[in-house]
Amino acid sequence: MGNMKEKANTKIDLLSLSMDELGSFLEKAGEQKYRAKQIIRWLAKGIKDIDEMTDLSKDLRRMLKETSYIEKLEVWERYKSKIDGTVKYIFKLSDGNIIESVLMQYKFGNTACISSQIGCKMGCKFCASAPLGFVRNLSAGEMLDQILAIIKDSGLTIRNIVIMGIGEPLDNYENVLKFIRNVNMADGLNIGYRHITISTCGLVEKIKELAKEKIPINLSVSLHAPNDEKRQKIMPIGKIYSIDKIIEVCKIYTEETKRRITFEYALIDGFNDTRQDARELASRIKGMLCHVNLIPLNTVEGVNLKTANRQKAEIFKKELENYNIPVTIRRELGADIEAACGQLRRRVIGR
Ligand code: SAH
Repeated sequence: MGNMKEKANTKIDLLSLSMDELGSFLEKAGEQKYRAKQIIRWLAKGIKDIDEMTDLSKDLRRMLKETSYIEKLEVWERYKSKIDGTVKYIFKLSDGNIIESVLMQYKFGNTACISSQIGCKMGCKFCASAPLGFVRNLSAGEMLDQILAIIKDSGLTIRNIVIMGIGEPLDNYENVLKFIRNVNMADGLNIGYRHITISTCGLVEKIKELAKEKIPINLSVSLHAPNDEKRQKIMPIGKIYSIDKIIEVCKIYTEETKRRITFEYALIDGFNDTRQDARELASRIKGMLCHVNLIPLNTVEGVNLKTANRQKAEIFKKELENYNIPVTIRRELGADIEAACGQLRRRVIGR
């Protein structure tokens, strides 16, 4: 229970507990362990007031109120795209910090993109969050409540989760894993592992650890360059882990989980967007159980990097396809509401 989020008054956040932790918490208080399931069902309904857990005895409710609380994010700002219905949320946390989440409506189901940290330590050159620095990790409950708050606010069901918002999820490994297990629980939101994606800049040791868990979640690796020299220019983490090492560990990941890896590749004009870049990338990943997602780069204020035009993206795509590598060009959603990559939070903090 070491990593449990505690408030100054040492109350425990129920939303940050695993089923086992909640069970032993109840047992220690002289209650039945199976009550954990009842509590988890209420939490998954978005209930924030312990007194609304009407199938618990008055004594149990009193005990819970004395010793615990339920994490609650506040919708601070909300923007809905007129183009595609994408909704961007700025949430205020109980300590006053703000984070972003996005709701995207796809044909294959509604998808929530959530943040895993307040800020980020990775310092990628093209990223809107990098200059704002790192504040702290999010708790498992703060991640879960992004989903619950989106469900409550939108009235929609969420089928897919991408941990692709602010932060490096594998740099907050323990809480992210607990969140994933909690959101998957049958008594909880019951979201299938195959509907959950972690996006990482490539923390090799952590990917190895994740592979060992054998949870069939999707792994998305932000590559953005065909070789180490270029990658190191835009991603400081490239100086610690080479592309070869990343590819090696991705192969272990697919072996253990049978899941296909997605390589994210943001096309930056005149930097990584030529036919030669595509060939170099292809030669490294061909034959892998993978897929390349070409992303138009979002311009970030103060950063002198531009996106490659659509024509270059198509040429890049064709070149990869020549090597039988599946490729998609990511559709831009919410272009009118700054839905991409920490841009909104940056503006909110800046004013
Ligand atoms: N830290 C994780 C997840 C957060 S970023 C990671 O690195 O994957 C989610 C995705 O958005 C990553 O692929 C990231 O490289 C990409 N990204 C960040 N800033 C971007 C920008 N300005 N334009 C396009 N993609 C960007």
